[in-house]
Amino acid sequence: MANRMSEDPTSNVGALVLFSGGQDSTACLAWALQQYGRVETVGFDYGQRHAVELKARQKVRRAILRRFADWAPRLGPDHRLNLRAFGAIGETAMTSDRAIEVTERGLPSTFVPGRNLVFLTYAAALADRRGLGVLVGGMCETDFSGYPDCRRDTLDAMQTALNLGMARDFVIETPLMRLTKAQTWALAKGLGGEALVEVTISESHTCYLGDRTMHDWGAGCGTCPACELRARGWGEWVAAGRPALTP
Ligand code: ZN
Repeated sequence: MANRMSEDPTSNVGALVLFSGGQDSTACLAWALQQYGRVETVGFDYGQRHAVELKARQKVRRAILRRFADWAPRLGPDHRLNLRAFGAIGETAMTSDRAIEVTERGLPSTFVPGRNLVFLTYAAALADRRGLGVLVGGMCETDFSGYPDCRRDTLDAMQTALNLGMARDFVIETPLMRLTKAQTWALAKGLGGEALVEVTISESHTCYLGDRTMHDWGAGCGTCPACELRARGWGEWVAAGRPALTP
């Protein structure tokens, strides 16, 4: 393969960020823009109930282009992939009208089985075509959501499978893996100062219900599990004096 990164270690390594437009993937996008000369984003339309999430992606990207002169030249195209057939299999609260609850397996009913494995497979195929060697995702072990496909062990196995199956040497980077939600706010400040904190509050979207009611910590219903995590993390970060975490 002519564009294989490993053949030229001095090549300008590029990254593809799995970008949903939420708080976590906004921090990941900023992290990637800090590290890599070329960054592209990918989003997955798997039948989310709320187009608001897909709209947030464009708003965050535009805000970054507008407010961060150092990062803007590095931010390349956005890609959006249709995974509605996969979303139909998931049949969970995120994709149908079932209530969000904790299931008998101890997982939130928003869990789409194997979602991140599918996302990473599509992302790797796209990254191969785009000549990007790094996949960046906001998976996190510390938020207690219990998603087994967010664990670093799973991602290490996935990285091996992708590299064997595609004869590549992709690296899957997960900058939030060991961070609490409070530390994710601190990371945003460390990467992009208060400006990135503001962009995260005003433009990113995490709420499962698609609610855009504004709070200190951003928009959301305030009561779904995603809002509770985000609001609690914000509260802890503010109580700690809004520290900055440098990666
Ligand atoms: Zn909510």
